[in-house]
Amino acid sequence: MSVTFTCSIDDGHPSDLKVAELLARHGLTGTFYVPIKNREGPPVMAPSEIRALSDQFEIGSHTYDHCFLKSVNIVESHFQVTEGKKQLEDILGKQVKGFCYPGGKYRPGDVEIVKASGFKYARTTVNLCFDVGVKPYEMPTTVQLYPHNRNVYLRNFAKSGDWMKRQKGLGYAMLEKDWTRRLYALFDHATRSNGCFHLWWHSKDIEEHQAWGELDRFFSYVSTNVRPENRLTNGELAERYF
Ligand SMILES: [Zn+2]
Repeated sequence: MSVTFTCSIDDGHPSDLKVAELLARHGLTGTFYVPIKNREGPPVMAPSEIRALSDQFEIGSHTYDHCFLKSVNIVESHFQVTEGKKQLEDILGKQVKGFCYPGGKYRPGDVEIVKASGFKYARTTVNLCFDVGVKPYEMPTTVQLYPHNRNVYLRNFAKSGDWMKRQKGLGYAMLEKDWTRRLYALFDHATRSNGCFHLWWHSKDIEEHQAWGELDRFFSYVSTNVRPENRLTNGELAERYF
Protein backbone atom coordinates (compact mmCIF):
# COMPACT_ATOMS: atom_id res chain seq x y z
CA MET A 1 0.00 0.00 0.00
CA SER A 2 1.01 3.57 -0.58
CA VAL A 3 -0.65 6.92 -1.02
CA THR A 4 -3.16 7.36 -3.87
CA PHE A 5 -3.65 10.69 -5.64
CA THR A 6 -6.66 11.91 -7.53
CA CYS A 7 -7.81 15.40 -8.38
CA SER A 8 -10.90 17.00 -9.81
CA ILE A 9 -11.42 20.32 -11.50
CA ASP A 10 -14.91 21.81 -11.60
CA ASP A 11 -16.90 24.03 -13.97
CA GLY A 12 -15.11 23.61 -17.32
CA HIS A 13 -13.55 27.09 -17.34
CA PRO A 14 -11.19 27.65 -20.32
CA SER A 15 -8.19 27.89 -17.95
CA ASP A 16 -8.70 24.13 -17.36
CA LEU A 17 -6.58 23.72 -20.50
CA LYS A 18 -3.62 25.30 -18.72
CA VAL A 19 -4.22 23.02 -15.72
CA ALA A 20 -4.29 19.99 -18.01
CA GLU A 21 -0.93 20.95 -19.48
CA LEU A 22 0.55 21.26 -16.00
CA LEU A 23 -0.88 17.93 -14.83
CA ALA A 24 0.44 16.19 -17.94
CA ARG A 25 3.88 17.71 -17.45
CA HIS A 26 4.04 16.10 -14.00
CA GLY A 27 2.64 12.77 -15.15
CA LEU A 28 -0.56 13.25 -13.17
CA THR A 29 -4.15 12.65 -14.14
CA GLY A 30 -7.58 13.75 -12.94
CA THR A 31 -11.20 14.40 -13.77
CA PHE A 32 -12.72 17.57 -15.21
CA TYR A 33 -16.39 18.12 -14.33
CA VAL A 34 -17.94 20.16 -17.10
CA PRO A 35 -21.44 21.66 -17.42
CA ILE A 36 -22.72 22.51 -20.91
CA LYS A 37 -22.98 26.15 -19.86
CA ASN A 38 -22.73 28.05 -16.59
CA ARG A 39 -25.78 29.94 -15.32
CA GLU A 40 -23.52 31.94 -12.99
CA GLY A 41 -21.84 33.60 -15.97
CA PRO A 42 -18.28 32.27 -16.35
CA PRO A 43 -17.44 30.82 -19.78
CA VAL A 44 -17.25 27.07 -20.42
CA MET A 45 -14.74 25.47 -22.82
CA ALA A 46 -15.80 24.95 -26.44
CA PRO A 47 -16.84 21.41 -27.48
CA SER A 48 -13.58 20.93 -29.42
CA GLU A 49 -11.57 21.85 -26.31
CA ILE A 50 -13.53 19.44 -24.11
CA ARG A 51 -12.92 16.70 -26.68
CA ALA A 52 -9.19 17.46 -26.72
CA LEU A 53 -9.04 17.22 -22.92
CA SER A 54 -10.79 13.86 -22.97
CA ASP A 55 -7.87 12.30 -24.88
CA GLN A 56 -5.78 12.36 -21.71
CA PHE A 57 -8.21 12.98 -18.86
CA GLU A 58 -11.60 11.84 -17.63
CA ILE A 59 -14.51 14.19 -18.30
CA GLY A 60 -17.42 14.05 -15.86
CA SER A 61 -20.76 15.84 -15.87
CA HIS A 62 -21.67 18.83 -13.70
CA THR A 63 -25.38 19.24 -14.70
CA TYR A 64 -26.62 21.08 -17.79
CA ASP A 65 -25.96 24.65 -16.65
CA HIS A 66 -24.29 24.39 -13.23
CA CYS A 67 -27.53 24.04 -11.31
CA PHE A 68 -27.54 23.56 -7.52
CA LEU A 69 -29.91 20.57 -7.52
CA LYS A 70 -31.19 21.26 -4.02
CA SER A 71 -32.56 24.62 -5.15
CA VAL A 72 -34.85 23.29 -7.91
CA ASN A 73 -37.78 20.86 -7.98
CA ILE A 74 -37.24 17.20 -8.78
CA VAL A 75 -38.46 17.55 -12.40
CA GLU A 76 -35.90 20.29 -13.11
CA SER A 77 -33.26 18.27 -11.26
CA HIS A 78 -33.96 15.29 -13.52
CA PHE A 79 -33.62 17.50 -16.61
CA GLN A 80 -30.35 19.00 -15.33
CA VAL A 81 -28.78 15.60 -14.66
CA THR A 82 -29.93 13.79 -17.80
CA GLU A 83 -29.50 16.67 -20.27
CA GLY A 84 -26.03 17.50 -18.95
CA LYS A 85 -25.00 13.87 -19.45
CA LYS A 86 -26.59 13.52 -22.90
CA GLN A 87 -25.09 16.69 -24.35
CA LEU A 88 -21.64 15.91 -22.94
CA GLU A 89 -21.80 12.41 -24.42
CA ASP A 90 -22.79 13.92 -27.78
CA ILE A 91 -19.74 16.21 -27.60
CA LEU A 92 -17.36 13.40 -26.60
CA GLY A 93 -18.84 10.53 -28.56
CA LYS A 94 -18.46 8.27 -25.52
CA GLN A 95 -20.13 7.38 -22.24
CA VAL A 96 -19.78 9.79 -19.31
CA LYS A 97 -19.54 7.82 -16.06
CA GLY A 98 -18.86 10.45 -13.41
CA PHE A 99 -21.01 13.20 -11.94
CA CYS A 100 -20.28 16.02 -9.50
CA TYR A 101 -23.02 17.91 -7.60
CA PRO A 102 -22.65 21.68 -8.25
CA GLY A 103 -21.96 23.51 -5.00
CA GLY A 104 -22.19 20.17 -3.21
CA LYS A 105 -25.92 20.94 -2.82
CA TYR A 106 -28.20 17.94 -3.26
CA ARG A 107 -30.96 15.89 -1.64
CA PRO A 108 -31.30 12.08 -1.30
CA GLY A 109 -33.73 12.23 -4.26
CA ASP A 110 -31.04 13.83 -6.44
CA VAL A 111 -28.67 10.95 -5.64
CA GLU A 112 -31.36 8.55 -6.89
CA ILE A 113 -31.71 10.55 -10.12
CA VAL A 114 -27.94 10.43 -10.68
CA LYS A 115 -27.95 6.64 -10.14
CA ALA A 116 -30.95 6.11 -12.43
CA SER A 117 -29.37 8.23 -15.18
CA GLY A 118 -26.60 5.69 -15.70
CA PHE A 119 -23.70 7.34 -13.90
CA LYS A 120 -21.32 4.94 -12.15
CA TYR A 121 -20.29 7.28 -9.34
CA ALA A 122 -20.61 10.85 -8.08
CA ARG A 123 -18.43 13.30 -6.15
CA THR A 124 -19.43 15.72 -3.39
CA THR A 125 -17.64 18.69 -1.79
CA VAL A 126 -17.26 17.00 1.61
CA ASN A 127 -13.64 17.51 2.61
CA LEU A 128 -10.99 16.28 5.07
CA CYS A 129 -11.36 12.62 4.05
CA PHE A 130 -8.46 10.32 3.22
CA ASP A 131 -10.46 7.48 1.69
CA VAL A 132 -13.26 7.10 -0.86
CA GLY A 133 -15.92 6.43 1.77
CA VAL A 134 -18.60 3.78 1.42
CA LYS A 135 -21.03 5.47 -0.97
CA PRO A 136 -20.09 5.46 -4.68
CA TYR A 137 -22.61 8.24 -5.39
CA GLU A 138 -21.31 10.47 -2.59
CA MET A 139 -17.53 10.27 -2.86
CA PRO A 140 -15.81 12.79 -0.55
CA THR A 141 -12.64 14.81 -1.14
CA THR A 142 -9.64 15.81 0.95
CA VAL A 143 -9.32 19.53 0.31
CA GLN A 144 -10.21 22.35 -2.07
CA LEU A 145 -7.28 24.28 -3.47
CA TYR A 146 -8.33 27.70 -2.23
CA PRO A 147 -7.06 30.18 0.38
CA HIS A 148 -9.97 29.55 2.75
CA ASN A 149 -9.80 30.87 6.26
CA ARG A 150 -10.18 28.43 9.12
CA ASN A 151 -13.88 29.19 9.69
CA VAL A 152 -14.74 27.66 6.34
CA TYR A 153 -13.22 24.34 7.46
CA LEU A 154 -15.11 24.48 10.72
CA ARG A 155 -18.41 25.13 8.91
CA ASN A 156 -17.87 22.37 6.36
CA PHE A 157 -16.78 20.01 9.16
CA ALA A 158 -19.88 20.74 11.23
CA LYS A 159 -22.40 20.30 8.44
CA SER A 160 -20.91 17.30 6.63
CA GLY A 161 -20.91 14.63 9.37
CA ASP A 162 -18.49 11.69 9.60
CA TRP A 163 -16.76 13.62 12.36
CA MET A 164 -14.71 10.79 13.87
CA LYS A 165 -13.16 10.05 10.52
CA ARG A 166 -12.60 13.68 9.56
CA GLN A 167 -11.24 15.11 12.80
CA LYS A 168 -7.64 14.26 11.95
CA GLY A 169 -7.91 16.24 8.72
CA LEU A 170 -9.57 19.14 10.53
CA GLY A 171 -6.65 19.18 12.94
CA TYR A 172 -4.15 19.61 10.09
CA ALA A 173 -6.34 22.20 8.37
CA MET A 174 -6.60 24.24 11.58
CA LEU A 175 -2.96 23.90 12.49
CA GLU A 176 -1.62 25.64 9.40
CA LYS A 177 -2.54 29.25 8.80
CA ASP A 178 -0.96 29.42 5.37
CA TRP A 179 -3.13 27.66 2.77
CA THR A 180 -0.24 26.14 0.84
CA ARG A 181 1.37 24.72 3.98
CA ARG A 182 -2.03 23.29 4.85
CA LEU A 183 -2.05 21.51 1.51
CA TYR A 184 1.32 19.86 2.20
CA ALA A 185 0.32 18.96 5.79
CA LEU A 186 -2.82 17.17 4.54
CA PHE A 187 -0.92 15.45 1.73
CA ASP A 188 1.82 14.29 4.12
CA HIS A 189 -0.82 12.82 6.41
CA ALA A 190 -2.31 10.91 3.45
CA THR A 191 1.19 9.62 2.65
CA ARG A 192 1.92 8.50 6.21
CA SER A 193 -1.42 6.73 6.51
CA ASN A 194 -1.35 5.16 3.00
CA GLY A 195 -4.58 7.00 2.31
CA CYS A 196 -6.16 8.69 -0.65
CA PHE A 197 -5.53 12.37 -1.30
CA HIS A 198 -8.30 14.00 -3.36
CA LEU A 199 -7.60 17.60 -4.29
CA TRP A 200 -10.24 19.68 -6.11
CA TRP A 201 -10.44 23.21 -7.39
CA HIS A 202 -11.78 25.75 -9.90
CA SER A 203 -9.14 26.78 -12.44
CA LYS A 204 -10.36 30.37 -12.46
CA ASP A 205 -9.42 30.59 -8.75
CA ILE A 206 -5.84 29.64 -9.64
CA GLU A 207 -5.84 32.42 -12.21
CA GLU A 208 -7.37 34.97 -9.79
CA HIS A 209 -4.92 34.15 -7.00
CA GLN A 210 -1.97 33.88 -9.36
CA ALA A 211 -1.28 30.48 -7.85
CA TRP A 212 0.17 28.75 -10.94
CA GLY A 213 3.64 28.60 -9.42
CA GLU A 214 2.28 27.08 -6.19
CA LEU A 215 0.32 24.53 -8.19
CA ASP A 216 3.39 23.62 -10.23
CA ARG A 217 5.47 23.08 -7.07
CA PHE A 218 2.75 21.03 -5.42
CA PHE A 219 2.30 18.78 -8.47
CA SER A 220 6.03 18.23 -8.49
CA TYR A 221 5.88 17.18 -4.82
CA VAL A 222 2.95 14.85 -5.55
CA SER A 223 4.66 13.16 -8.48
CA THR A 224 7.77 12.58 -6.36
CA ASN A 225 5.70 10.85 -3.68
CA VAL A 226 2.98 8.96 -5.53
CA ARG A 227 3.71 5.85 -7.58
CA PRO A 228 2.51 6.07 -11.20
CA GLU A 229 0.00 3.24 -10.68
CA ASN A 230 -1.61 5.20 -7.85
CA ARG A 231 -2.27 8.39 -9.85
CA LEU A 232 -5.91 7.95 -10.76
CA THR A 233 -8.87 9.73 -12.27
CA ASN A 234 -11.96 9.86 -10.03
CA GLY A 235 -13.50 7.14 -12.21
CA GLU A 236 -10.49 4.84 -11.84
CA LEU A 237 -10.57 5.43 -8.09
CA ALA A 238 -14.27 4.51 -7.92
CA GLU A 239 -13.62 1.41 -9.99
CA ARG A 240 -10.76 0.34 -7.74
CA TYR A 241 -12.62 0.73 -4.47
CA PHE A 242 -16.32 0.06 -5.18
ZN1 LIG B 1 -19.18 23.75 -9.85
